[in-house]
Amino acid sequence: MSRYAELGVRPVINADARLTRLGGSLMAPEVRAAMDAAARQYVDMHELQTAIGRRLAALTHNEAALVCAGAAAGLFLSTLACVVGGSLGRIAGLPSLAGCPDEVVIHTAHRIPYDLAVRQTGARLVSVGNVIQTFDWELEAALGPRTAAVLYVAGAHLGGGALPLERVVAIAHAHRVPVIVDAAAQLPPPENLWRFTRELGADLAVFSGGKDLAGPQASGLVVGRADLIEACRAHASPHQRLGRPMKVGREALVGLMVAVELYLQQDHGARIAGFEATVAHWIAQLGQLPGIDARRGFPNEAGQPTPRMLLTLDAARCGLTGAALRERLWQGEPRIAVAALGEDTIAATPDCLAPGEERVVLEQIAAALHAAQPGRLP
Ligand SMILES: *Cc1c(COP(=O)(O)O)cnc(C)c1O
Repeated sequence: MSRYAELGVRPVINADARLTRLGGSLMAPEVRAAMDAAARQYVDMHELQTAIGRRLAALTHNEAALVCAGAAAGLFLSTLACVVGGSLGRIAGLPSLAGCPDEVVIHTAHRIPYDLAVRQTGARLVSVGNVIQTFDWELEAALGPRTAAVLYVAGAHLGGGALPLERVVAIAHAHRVPVIVDAAAQLPPPENLWRFTRELGADLAVFSGGKDLAGPQASGLVVGRADLIEACRAHASPHQRLGRPMKVGREALVGLMVAVELYLQQDHGARIAGFEATVAHWIAQLGQLPGIDARRGFPNEAGQPTPRMLLTLDAARCGLTGAALRERLWQGEPRIAVAALGEDTIAATPDCLAPGEERVVLEQIAAALHAAQPGRLP
């Protein structure tokens, strides 16, 4: 009996998204084996963190890299690196930021729940522009002697309210201000691991280890400028400093490294083609049912270039709203998670499924629709 079963916690087939509240992602056997091996011996954690940072920097074509306890922790450490730097004299004054530039500039269009990871350092966010548009001069006007960094949240799903990253980098660098990119969910494509920093000129980019990288759920990756990564490290565990509550264990360090190695070996074109085939099959099967509109949604909810199925239910004809279908799938056996888009529509995504689960998702959706109106559905 699994520990989950023993606890009465029902496992989920995840057709929703790579969500922390559903456990992030599924780790490959190689990642799990590496973590198990790492757990069996002691090491010097400074030495391990440095060696893995060097390996991850080489793999991702960056100057330097640091494993952290999730992208939110990466934002926290990156902010400290820009606000406080790595000098022990300044670190000694923490948590007071007296004497430090303590403003982080962010587009209003980029205000998302994770901005707390920045504000948690004590830094203040200064918003520029509005959700619809931002001008160069608005960003220019916000940059001053108190500016520590610009935080840029990457993602096609965030709409057009922000300046392009290249523009932000040019303006910020002209004021000697570094740019941090929150790229937590911007994989695939794997090239994004170096695109924001090496190609678009950002100083740091932060990725989640527990999303598409399929590493340990509580891991993340910061890549970019060596001096800033060194400053991040100065605030992080194993030091007893502000980052200590976000400790990364040796299992997660090794696990994330192996996950990145595997990620860069994968054929992502073939992977995405597989997702397209799954979505096309789902649409072909479910789109024929009365009262159902099944279509392809692209990009997905996090702006990643992968497809998902959008299913809109005409409740009068199929006896079920989208929200009710979602609830039935969640209560069913096996338990299936899909996303809700308002009352009428659900979204199902193939990215997070284990092989074979795409069939289970299709069967369970068809069965729930059939049960709602047995007489009329095949
Ligand atoms: C998921 C996400 C985060 C947080 O990542 P964790 O690894 O779960 O800490 C931060 N920012 C964005 C945009 C995200 O999508």
